This record gives sequence, C-alpha cells and structure tokens, in this order.
Amino acid sequence: MDDSVNEQEMLKTLEVHVINEISLIKDQQQKDFLLLKSAIEENNKMMKELIQQEFGQAKLMMLEQPAKEVKVKINKGPLALTTVGKLKEKYKNAVYNDGVVCKGNQFVGCKNSDKIGNDPNEVINHCSQCNFDLCQKCFELIENIHEHPLEKVTYGHLLETQKDSYGGGWQCDCRSFQGCVLDGKAIKDQYEIVYHDAINQFNLCVSCANSYKV
Ligand SMILES: [Zn+2]
Ligand SMILES: [Zn+2]
Ligand SMILES: [Zn+2]
Repeated sequence: MDDSVNEQEMLKTLEVHVINEISLIKDQQQKDFLLLKSAIEENNKMMKELIQQEFGQAKLMMLEQPAKEVKVKINKGPLALTTVGKLKEKYKNAVYNDGVVCKGNQFVGCKNSDKIGNDPNEVINHCSQCNFDLCQKCFELIENIHEHPLEKVTYGHLLETQKDSYGGGWQCDCRSFQGCVLDGKAIKDQYEIVYHDAINQFNLCVSCANSYKV
C-alpha cells in the first residue's frame, strides 16, 4: 500500500515537473519567435532602404552622363544638374516639399502667330548676337528668357541690314516651344534629375533641358 502511494506521488511530481518544463519551453519559444520576427522586420526594412537607394543610383546611371550644366532658350542663366532630393535638402523642403514642377510647361508656341512676318513696321525684340527674335506679345510674357540683351528693331530694319537672313520674312522663336511632357505635374522622386537655376528659381525636367538646349 505504501509503495503504491509513493508511486502515485512520484508520478504526480513527475507530471508537474514535465508540465513546468513544457511551459518553460513554450515561453522560450514564444520569446525566440518574437526575437526572430523583429529581426526579420528589421532586415526587411534595411533591404527596402537599400533597394530604394540602389534603384535611385541605377536611375542616375541610366542617363548616359547627363550634362552638368545646360544653357537653354527659355531661361537667361545656365541651369545646373541636381536632383529633387538635393533641392529639397538645399531649400529645407520649404519650396520643393511637393516636388519640382518643370517650367517647360509655360512655353507653348508663339502667343501671336506662327506665321512668317513681313510687315516692315512690325517691332521685333532682336538679339544681334544669335538672331534670336521675339514678337511683342511673347516678349511681354517672357522677356527674361534670353541670355543676351534684346533690342527693339523693326522688320524693315532687319531686312535692310541683314537681307541674307531676313529676306524671306521673320518668325518668332517661341513658335518652336512645345511645353513639357509632364504638363505641370510635379517630379517627386528624390533621385530624379532636374536642372536648376538658383538665381531665377527656374527648373526644367531632363526632357525639357534637352529639347530647349542651345
Ligand atoms: Zn511670339
Ligand atoms: Zn542671343
Ligand atoms: Zn519639362
């Protein structure tokens, strides 16, 4: 009888011991699982950042050695290569918080007419260094675009003094402006290249910088 009681007690003790062990193992597993989970999450976060960085770098490299500086027909000063991220950093997000809008969308054709002009009394805003011409209407809207000073002359004067270039009439140089493919949509990707003139706060997308290049 005594033996049997002892045996029962021993079994009971053993059972309790096993239950305690199992519960300890379960606790440890739960802790390990949480540790593993947070390690995986941390790793995923790092991978994401790395991929984002690498993708941005790849994007920069995809464009074959973009020009460091461009001169364009639609801005007085040269534009320097930068990125949306760098502009945000430079201006502490104040101006470019919502991305960079390419100014190219403001230049769409001539405001007057695309016709070849031949009225000798018509006033032309003329650059004698490169024969750049703006009609009066376009000049009033965007007078500041040309890198050289513009002089007001009549077509009759140009015809008289430069018959070779102006014998067949004249056309406003705004006629070739075709706006921007982005059509006013902000460029938000911080790794995207933009061309920037800090003095005039004038920015162009890569496509416009290329098409308006002089
Ligand atoms: Zn015009
Ligand atoms: Zn000029
Ligand atoms: Zn553009």
